[in-house]
Formats: sequence, C-alpha cells, structure tokens
Amino acid sequence: MKKIFKRFIAFVIIICGFWYMFDHIASKSKGEEVKESVLNFSKENKAETIENNDGDDKLVLVNEEHELDKNFKPKDLTIPNITFVHGTSNEEKHVSEIIKEPLEGLFDAAKKDGITLLGNSGYRSYKSQENTYNNRVKSQGENIADSYVARPGSSEHQTGLCIDVTNQKQSFVKGTKEAEWLDKNCYKFGFIIRYPYGKKYITGIEYEPWHIRYVGKDAAKYIHDNGITLEEYLEK
Ligand SMILES: [Zn+2]
Repeated sequence: MKKIFKRFIAFVIIICGFWYMFDHIASKSKGEEVKESVLNFSKENKAETIENNDGDDKLVLVNEEHELDKNFKPKDLTIPNITFVHGTSNEEKHVSEIIKEPLEGLFDAAKKDGITLLGNSGYRSYKSQENTYNNRVKSQGENIADSYVARPGSSEHQTGLCIDVTNQKQSFVKGTKEAEWLDKNCYKFGFIIRYPYGKKYITGIEYEPWHIRYVGKDAAKYIHDNGITLEEYLEK
C-alpha cells in the first residue's frame, strides 16, 4: 500500500512538473507574440509616414533605419531625355518627374565640358531591389551584398530621386574624369554624391561615385560646400 502511495505522489509531482513546463512555454511564446506585434505596429507606422510622402519630398531620407513601404511607388515616373547605357531596363530608365529637367541639364553641361555621362539605373521597384539584393547574396555572400546593395525598402532607387550614372567604358570609379566632373558639378543642378568617400560609418554604404541623389539646389550646395552627407544635413 505504501508503495502504491509513493508511486501516486511521484506521478502527481511529474504531472505538476509537466503542467508548469507547458504553461511556462505557452506564456513565453505569447509574450514574444506581443513583442512582435508591437514591432510590426511601429514598422507599419514608420512605413506609412513615408508612403504618405507625395513623391515631391526631395529631402526624404531612405536608409537602413528609414525604410520605404514595399508598396511605395512615386506617382510621377517619367523617362528623362538622356542617353542610357545598353542593357538598362525600361523600369530603370524612369525617374521622378521633379528630377527630369535638372538631370537633363546636368548631362548637357557635362557634354559641353567634353564629358559623356550615361544613365545606368534610375527607379527600381521594391521587387527589383529584392531580386538584385538576393542575387548578390547568392553570388558574393551577405556581407558583401550588405556593403554594396541596399536591402529592399532601404534603397533610394525606390524613390525615383536618384540615378546611377556611368561612362562609356562602364568603369565609373574614383580618378576617372567623368567621376571627378560629376563630383565637382552635380550640386549645381541639385544633386549630391549620396555615398561619399569615407562616410560609410554614417551612410552605411561604401563610396559610390556613380550614385547621385536629387535634393534641390540649396541643400545640394550646402552639402557639397560642407563635405557632409544627407544624414548630417538633416540633423543640422
Ligand atoms: Zn545607386
């Protein structure tokens, strides 16, 4: 009889142990669910703020910490009258309407100075950026991809306010006459070199002499004259 009683007590203790364990796991996952929904809520809020931007906000900040909603698309996409490098997709030939004329002016001024600039990649949808990023991860790994390709939603190309330019050799690197010309002159038309040399610790992106971003003439001149980034300009 004593034996049976002992077994019964042991059985109760085991059952209680299981009950406590399951309850603990359930409440923990419930807690995580709550945490996740709070995160989602704040993300959605943030995305909504940017989504409501009418596309004319030329100072919109897009980076890893300020992402665009995956449904964000500028309303007024148009193809500027510039020469594109062979192979540019139809989507990438588009830019936001407000940068069309400044961009054409920039390309014309370059031509007058004997510099040939070519359009390479303007607007890219969330989906295109996602493909570009995933392909780079596949070919070179996540670390390199993160240094050179923005994650979907954190690319300025989704705003239509920027464009990658190149030269005829398609080697638009530091020291080429085209890169130097662009660096010296793009601010006159309201553009900045968005990812300057030595500023990765601020922008999160390696030096990209080919990526110009429209911010309007006043901001571009200030940013150029002071050698700062858009992030620093917006915090001043
Ligand atoms: Zn770019």
